[in-house]
Amino acid sequence: MPPRYAFILNPYQDVRLTKCPQCDQPTRLRKFALLIHVDQFGLMIHGKTCRFCPPCDLLIVHQDELEAQLTEHLSQIAPNVIGNEYLVTGTVERKTWRRGLREELPLDEMQEHAADFETVLQLEYEPGGWYPAG
Ligand SMILES: [Zn+2]
Repeated sequence: MPPRYAFILNPYQDVRLTKCPQCDQPTRLRKFALLIHVDQFGLMIHGKTCRFCPPCDLLIVHQDELEAQLTEHLSQIAPNVIGNEYLVTGTVERKTWRRGLREELPLDEMQEHAADFETVLQLEYEPGGWYPAG
């Protein structure tokens, strides 16, 4: 599928981004199925409630929340890879992901319904506020 969404992985625990760093509108909570590559494991799909700005099509994930949930998730399927490097590469269509929760779906079928992020932004601190880099 074609790339979708701009993405920010927020490393700052004291910044919760209830307002969009790009347009300053309130962000909403929306659940996404994230496609994540974990070193020495491969691709996994992880359901996560994220901050989302509809006008910007911007998806924001708090790194501390994600890592706590990933640890929980991986402890059930692959405890040996907990703590490995990982990369959030994109999203999977929700209806495909939900189907995958009910029945065994091969990963390549999930990938057919996956989209890479269109852009990945870094959040950087500048005096006076938080802005996406670039
Ligand atoms: Zn916005």
